[in-house]
Amino acid sequence: MDYTAILKAQKDFFYAQKTKSLSSRIQALCRFKEMLISYESRIYKSLFDDFNKTEQEAYLTEWVILIKDIELAQQSLKKWTKKKRVGTNLLNWPGKSFTIAEPYGQSLIIGTWNYPIQLTLAPAIAALAAGNTVILKPSELALNTSQCIAAMISEYFNPDLITVVQGGVKETSNLLKLKFDKIFFTGSTAVGKIVYQAAALNLTPITLELGGKSPAVITQSAQLPKAIKRLVWAKYLNAGQTCIAPDYVFVHQKIYKQALALFKQELDKNKYALESNNYVQIINDQHLKRLEKLIDQNNVIYGGQISRETRCISPTLLTEVDLQDEIMKEEIFGPLLPIIPFTEYQEVIRYIQSNEKPLAAYLFSKNSGEINQWLSELSFGGGCINDAIMHITNPKLPFGGVGQSGTGSYHGKAGFDTFSHYKSIFRKPSSFEVTLKYPPYTKSKMTWIKRLIRFS
Ligand code: NAD
Repeated sequence: MDYTAILKAQKDFFYAQKTKSLSSRIQALCRFKEMLISYESRIYKSLFDDFNKTEQEAYLTEWVILIKDIELAQQSLKKWTKKKRVGTNLLNWPGKSFTIAEPYGQSLIIGTWNYPIQLTLAPAIAALAAGNTVILKPSELALNTSQCIAAMISEYFNPDLITVVQGGVKETSNLLKLKFDKIFFTGSTAVGKIVYQAAALNLTPITLELGGKSPAVITQSAQLPKAIKRLVWAKYLNAGQTCIAPDYVFVHQKIYKQALALFKQELDKNKYALESNNYVQIINDQHLKRLEKLIDQNNVIYGGQISRETRCISPTLLTEVDLQDEIMKEEIFGPLLPIIPFTEYQEVIRYIQSNEKPLAAYLFSKNSGEINQWLSELSFGGGCINDAIMHITNPKLPFGGVGQSGTGSYHGKAGFDTFSHYKSIFRKPSSFEVTLKYPPYTKSKMTWIKRLIRFS
């Protein structure tokens, strides 16, 4: 594939003004929705073939999210694309000031495998809504889904507007040598650094949606059964292969025993199993081995079974975990949950502060002092109070990380903004002229300038 030629064709298409009008953007979004509807069952099949993702999870966490994204963009695009008037200061009077959201141009979107449909196509919907062209690079690890994405995009779209490049490191590295106007990357922090460096060579604006260890904390004031019900669902969804899954849980010492019993009960109730079609596989053997190494069987109080044949790890609870253990050093990204007791809330806060800023953080508490401290003293991408994961499902909340967990955000209007440059314009009438700024400089001019500046 000649990537340079693809990019050149997209550039020509863009400069022929074919992506910018409201009607062409709405048309692209309608086409996208048609495509998703007609490919719905093939999407589910490819997700199932890749890692046993079931239809209910695929519908809820991938397909319908995209449909809702498109509908929101369709309803809001007129408002989002309207030029926005801002006030004009006295110094510039008379005149008008406004901003215009303009598309960056040629965008590159690099996806990941854990929600391979949603995480690859949601940024593409935002990019098209904002009037960009798109080259999509899905993850090679979810191969069936990557092929499905390539097939549907090529069937439904002109490649000058949006096209798919399949492949892995080599193909992504070659794409990154080209000069894009915007790069959007979802994946690991380690690869995020490589992509950031490649973007820096061309000073390309970039959004990095990365990972990290997202903590959950249950304090004494929490409604314990509800907290655990919500945490278990959030952790074992997609077998823990979720960027904002609770990575580990701190539980107050006084409710620790009761919490362990409730965790076990909840897991029993949910009957996670490949055969019952409510559990997914680990994406590949390499990740299975990585997770296997993180399990210290002496610490397992629930689960811990590994099947190499089915590439499956049963939902696993671990206690007696030391904060220096390997499992507390890297993002788990699998169905292993360390549950750690604490006595002082302040210590938990300090521990989280001492690590990299997480992508998400979850506090289960009814105590407003604890909640306020959590919100004001910890920096993290986003999160929930008394829930986990669900903040991602509100398109009105921008989604993204901070520091090592990412830079920039998307979803809803934030997605449109991420793929737009806000051009600032001051428009002055030609007829009227205040001559104060022009030479020759005089004392009286200076006095007037100072007065004007004081009041503007
Ligand atoms: P990854 O970084 O290995 O791969 C992501 C993409 O980068 C793939 O398309 C891959 O082909 C490409 N890639 C891999 N190595 C590369 C290299 N050396 N040079 C150029 N491109 C390369 O990540 P992954 O294993 O697919 O995903 C897991 C990580 O992604 C976890 O850390 C998880 O938390 C994070 N994640 C973040 C979000 C989010 O929205 N913030 C969502 C899902 C996953």
